[in-house]
Amino acid sequence: MHPNPAFLAQALPAVRDLAPYEPGKPIEELERELGIANIIKLASNESPLGPAPGVRRVLEAELDRLALYPDGSGHALKQALASHLDVAPAQVTLGNGSNDLLNLVAQTFLAPGRNAVMSAHAFAIYALATRAVGAEARVAPALPADAAQPCGHDLAAMAERMDGNTAVVFIANPNNPTGTWIDRDALENFLSAVPPQVVVVLDEAYFEYVQQAGYPDGCRLLARYPNLLVTRTFSKAYGLAALRVGYGVSHPALADLLNRLRQPFNVNSLGLAAARAALADTDHLAAAVAINRAGLTQLSAGLAALGLPYIPSVGNFITFRVPNAANLNQRLLRAGIIVRPVAGYGLPESLRVSVGLPEHNTRFLETLGRLLQS
Ligand SMILES: *Cc1c(COP(=O)(O)O)cnc(C)c1O
Repeated sequence: MHPNPAFLAQALPAVRDLAPYEPGKPIEELERELGIANIIKLASNESPLGPAPGVRRVLEAELDRLALYPDGSGHALKQALASHLDVAPAQVTLGNGSNDLLNLVAQTFLAPGRNAVMSAHAFAIYALATRAVGAEARVAPALPADAAQPCGHDLAAMAERMDGNTAVVFIANPNNPTGTWIDRDALENFLSAVPPQVVVVLDEAYFEYVQQAGYPDGCRLLARYPNLLVTRTFSKAYGLAALRVGYGVSHPALADLLNRLRQPFNVNSLGLAAARAALADTDHLAAAVAINRAGLTQLSAGLAALGLPYIPSVGNFITFRVPNAANLNQRLLRAGIIVRPVAGYGLPESLRVSVGLPEHNTRFLETLGRLLQS
């Protein structure tokens, strides 16, 4: 291969400077690298329960139609979501994962000379999507480690970082990887103060898991804040991460803009059908939420018993501090347990573990305890 092809220098500076997203290590990769079996992955906040049983049936039916393009408008899923969320179908934008929506917002509103404001320790895609289009990612300092929401979003600090060139603000509620959340009053105070031309992305990827009193439902704020885009996903509580289905809910005019850039068939037919089936099974969702609540309790108690400080989380994961996180991560991998290093999120002394089935959580805690002893 040519060591330095001429097109490299022609790539847009924003792209040349980009550091790619680092996903959780796939099980197959660790199998290949270490030649070990019986691996558990607690690294990407996937649902240990998997999707609703009805999903398998609709997927099988879809297999007969693989030669046909999917419904590019996602009509049936949008109708189902609109009725589920009590909004109009024209307010819904479907995405190839909610990640797709984050990119669409960046492409619609950001460019060199503009900036997007986000918190330190926030979901990594915000900065990536912003920088990919040549805009500045303005990172506000997070709340301190001893705050009520340790390392969580500091909305006052975020407001301070905004200026006349700010076009987008990204808020994760709850945030990944900290698991911290923002209450209704704090969020509404912030939204009321944001200039109306600035688009606020309220990322609710873990919405279904949160049961705290005072946790706001972004969809109920849309009538008052037309500059709000709420994003949600089927990847987490609905257990459909592989199929890549997410959505945005907003003022119809904002949805219309995003839909101009959206690839015509960004959500495939398997994803469309599976998401509808998943949405319809409220019992399965309740079971996933219940398993998660028990898992959070189990993991929190286990980490506390090991003397490891952790950030209380309302998501389906917990970030905890350990001596020598990078080394411990390697030793966990050799023991067949994949968790997520969060050094890239500005938390170099921590690891993030996703809630698994009870037996996974037990194996994780026992292995962790053993490794910390040796
Ligand atoms: C997982 C995650 C997403 C996106 O997931 P998709 O699979 O693209 O829907 C978005 N935001 C946060 C905070 C996440 O943790």
